Amino acid sequence: MQKPDPQNPDVTLITPTSPVTTPTHGGRAKCLQRLVRLELPVPRTVALSFDAVHRIAAGEMPDIAALLDGFGETAILCVRPSSGDPDWGGPSAILNIGMNDARRDALAARIGAEAATALYLRFVQAYAVHVARLDPDSFDEIDDAGPAGLAEALRAYEDEAEEPFPQDPVVQLSEVLRSMARAWEGTTARLLRQARGAPADAGLGLVVQEMALGVGPGECGSGVLQLVNSETGQRQITGRYLSQSQGREALQPGTGALYLTRDPRGPSLEEAEPEAFAQIRTYAELMRRKLRAEMQIEFTLEDGRVYILDGMRVARSSRAALRIAVRLAEEGIITRQEAVMRIEPRAITELLHRQIAPGAARDVIGRGIAASPGAATGRIVFTAAEAQASAARGEPCILVRRETSPEDIRGMHAAVGVLTERGGMTSHAAVIGRGLGLPCVVGAARMRFHHKRQQITTPDRRTFRAGDTITIDGTSGEVLLGAPETIEAALDESFQTMMAWADEIRDIGIRANADTPADAATARNFAAQGIGLCRTEHMFFEADRITPMREMIFADTAEDRQAALALLLPMQRADFTELFRIMEGLPVCIRLFDPPLHEFLPTDRAGLRDLAEALDLPVSDVTRRVEAMGEYNPMLGLRGVRLGITLPEIYDMQARAIFEATLDASREGAPVVPEIMLPLVSARREVEMVRNRIDAVAAAVRNERKQGFTYRLGVMVETPRACLRADEIAPYTQFLSFGTNDLTQMTYGLSRDDAGRFMSDYVQQGVFSEDPFHVLDTDGVGELVALGVERGRHSHPGVTLSICGEHGGNPESIAFCRAVGMDYVSCSPFRVPVARLAAAQLALERPRPVRDNPPVAES
Ligand code: PEP
Ligand code: MG
Repeated sequence: MQKPDPQNPDVTLITPTSPVTTPTHGGRAKCLQRLVRLELPVPRTVALSFDAVHRIAAGEMPDIAALLDGFGETAILCVRPSSGDPDWGGPSAILNIGMNDARRDALAARIGAEAATALYLRFVQAYAVHVARLDPDSFDEIDDAGPAGLAEALRAYEDEAEEPFPQDPVVQLSEVLRSMARAWEGTTARLLRQARGAPADAGLGLVVQEMALGVGPGECGSGVLQLVNSETGQRQITGRYLSQSQGREALQPGTGALYLTRDPRGPSLEEAEPEAFAQIRTYAELMRRKLRAEMQIEFTLEDGRVYILDGMRVARSSRAALRIAVRLAEEGIITRQEAVMRIEPRAITELLHRQIAPGAARDVIGRGIAASPGAATGRIVFTAAEAQASAARGEPCILVRRETSPEDIRGMHAAVGVLTERGGMTSHAAVIGRGLGLPCVVGAARMRFHHKRQQITTPDRRTFRAGDTITIDGTSGEVLLGAPETIEAALDESFQTMMAWADEIRDIGIRANADTPADAATARNFAAQGIGLCRTEHMFFEADRITPMREMIFADTAEDRQAALALLLPMQRADFTELFRIMEGLPVCIRLFDPPLHEFLPTDRAGLRDLAEALDLPVSDVTRRVEAMGEYNPMLGLRGVRLGITLPEIYDMQARAIFEATLDASREGAPVVPEIMLPLVSARREVEMVRNRIDAVAAAVRNERKQGFTYRLGVMVETPRACLRADEIAPYTQFLSFGTNDLTQMTYGLSRDDAGRFMSDYVQQGVFSEDPFHVLDTDGVGELVALGVERGRHSHPGVTLSICGEHGGNPESIAFCRAVGMDYVSCSPFRVPVARLAAAQLALERPRPVRDNPPVAES
């Protein structure tokens, strides 16, 4: 049997010195202790530890009579949950424990019969539904708050529970505690909180507090107050107060609650009870400073006297969280480091999106749920495979599905936005869309989706087909025709400040993977320190380039090939000049041509005929040649540097375009030092041979232009052999960049393009803990990377090391890259801010050991 003595941590009265901690009693209990230490008027509160509550769930009740004794004979109590993190949820609070027939009569003398009856009724209703678990319908429908309603509730209780409503406060409190303890241990609650990040064994504490009643004579009531706006994070006193109310009733709409501060919309607490208001406000300011957080406070007035019942961290949008953290640090309440640690890197994505310009004309063709913010314009595609094909051609697309499933993941990665007919905020499309920072509108049920016919019909009977351009506005839920003007994400001052602090702290460089001028502009906007991967193959799918490309592929002789490449050269030069201009002297790493050539060839009859016409050859010839170029397994065939060895003219042309663009762009702005990267290397000799040719091109360009320039040559380490042989490859290069997409594919022997079919089964059954294409497999693939890093650095200590696979923007993968000593990570532009913040948090959590050869934090 345990009594609420302050030395017993399991059932302890909250005093300034009682042994209450968040890990043993939960956040609410700890917060209440802080309020007690600040000498705020907190009603008497007893905290039950996680252990005590766990034992209650198992049937071992502490000495409730002794606990009640401490509160005195006439006290009315409430019990509230206190878990390790408020986001993990918990059972709802139960108010007015202790009400029974006798107390109702006694209280009636003090606060009036009406108020006493209402309290009793409210307790019977809550107890019946949440504690005795009777049918809520029988209790919720009681409208009469007077004696008749109470009698009805007591009768309904007796009918359903087959016993009278318990009159003994010991029984009442014991049952309340037991039901709350059991609710926490139930499977549903456990799964729910685990989904919110709680550990499997997360504990629940409970606090038993004397009620300040909020009803009765004089000014009585309750309310909540906070000093910031939860949506924007701006300083603004928000909340409501309702006379003759309890708990959070003031927040329910239609109750006629008062505003807190003077407000043109209606009467306010500030005007009605200026002294109480000033007092509550002072308490709130004190809490903010001393608890070092924006708090929402729950208060009660009892005959004009203020009580503070509870304080909790203000609920907040991502934008508000950022602004709050920055301001607290600017006011010196927390440190900059703490501010940086307070923001969940993934939450930053919400702030980063392009929006439709406010004045832009909107031709709305449908509406759905705004599931993931931002505006995206692209051509309609109906399958994930088409989305991937479209992305490979460099054409932005909107993936339109009835609903998405795990098989669509790759298509979603490839699309710029997703539109679905079905689903809500937590549907697959919505959850994944938000995770990827991909604008997403779901549940556009009034649009008709005809997947077979590849059409959508709008409510006003307009029909659109695959290939038509639409825009989705994931912020408003609208689907618009065409491409309305958009504006870049609103990266306000707080965002910039937070990012600047993160940049001061982090010790690993962050670049972006960017193939197009638009990507590069986004990368700059998010302060990427350069481009870590520009995939050049996308540049060749454009209509005016595909024909010379095909002519080049079909050329029989080196001269014919040169002639076709001569057409492509100026286009490539213009591509690179533009990228260099946008990046203004920051490093730009251009990867030479990677994909299998046959990807550029037509597959259908019409395409073959067009090509035959262009080449002035019979269709049969063209068909035979196309078939001959087919490979059984193109991802492992003639691609990457193998093309550079067998058809060296392509790389010659690209190198020339890069060097000429370097000189052109340097003439106009900051000097450019281009980086040239060779894909799919597996042997030293490949690097040596290609390097010799590229050096020769550089010499030729210097000679022709009579101008000097430098460049850096590097190798993409994306085959297991390149990792293993990094020691002999590294001396031929200035940098090694780990292409973990291909490396994962080859390490697992698992096709990147087919993994989606069964990955969800594998993850669900726990075969893989995560999809290794999304989160770097640090055990297997990671071991190869670590070997590559170590061997590369051993033979070439000054070599720059980085990652440019999709994993580069994933906070867990960044931790790995940093731990093995990489100099920078490169990720998609929208993940750059996430990476900057994640990297800063890593640096704060675990400073990097000083190496003999410290990484150059890029600037
Ligand atoms: C990689 O393989 O990790 C990579 C970045 O290249 P790609 O995805 O273009 O094959
Ligand atoms: Mg690759």
